[in-house]
Amino acid sequence: MTRKNANQLVVALNKGRPLTALLKVLREAGIAPSESPESSRKLVFPTSRSDVSLLVLRGGDVATYVEHGIADVGLLGKDSLLEFPGQDYYELLDLGLARCRLMVAGLVDEGPLPRRIRVATKFVETAKRYYAALGVQADIIKLSGAMELAPVMGLSDRIIDIVETGNTLVANGLEPKDLVEDISARLIVNKSSYKTKHSVISDLVKAIESSVARRDGASG
Ligand code: AMP
Repeated sequence: MTRKNANQLVVALNKGRPLTALLKVLREAGIAPSESPESSRKLVFPTSRSDVSLLVLRGGDVATYVEHGIADVGLLGKDSLLEFPGQDYYELLDLGLARCRLMVAGLVDEGPLPRRIRVATKFVETAKRYYAALGVQADIIKLSGAMELAPVMGLSDRIIDIVETGNTLVANGLEPKDLVEDISARLIVNKSSYKTKHSVISDLVKAIESSVARRDGASG
């Protein structure tokens, strides 16, 4: 695999749910991967533009690669950014894609909550900030998936998780209790790349911005 070179733009994409929408936006901005990241096991993809390559990573890792300047641009869910205390990137665009909500949820028939609640989540930093701002005492229990199981099995009183349709909550006897944050996909840029590769990055940002505006115009 080739290492990054100074004329090459590296764009990191959030794998999983947001990926299809992110690839569509990039395609509309004139960047198509050489093969479909959705069906390939590769992690690095050349594109229709010889100066642009794509990395496909977990959301949190997109932020890490951009923070360290290995990727110049990242497209990822706001949920990952909320967990990431980085300073070395600019958040330039809200793509309005992969919309969902980060919610507090609990059992439909939950009893009175204890004074100090137990909250299971993958979003540990966000949960700590959320309860600290409310002045509520909460023990945060880190899980990496299937958060919905925690209140059902008595591991926690509440969960904080992403809700899109709400079907997963309903299927597990849970309901949303409070909104933590509205989530959508964002475009971030490494601060030093933004200086050293300004014209190529700002052309890309403008192309993505107009593709998002065209879509919003068409649906609005
Ligand atoms: P839903 O049943 O449609 O409310 O989807 C909820 C489940 O899908 C949860 O387990 C979430 O973690 C996951 N999920 C939904 N939307 C997204 C998204 N945009 N990004 C990441 N995970 C998501």
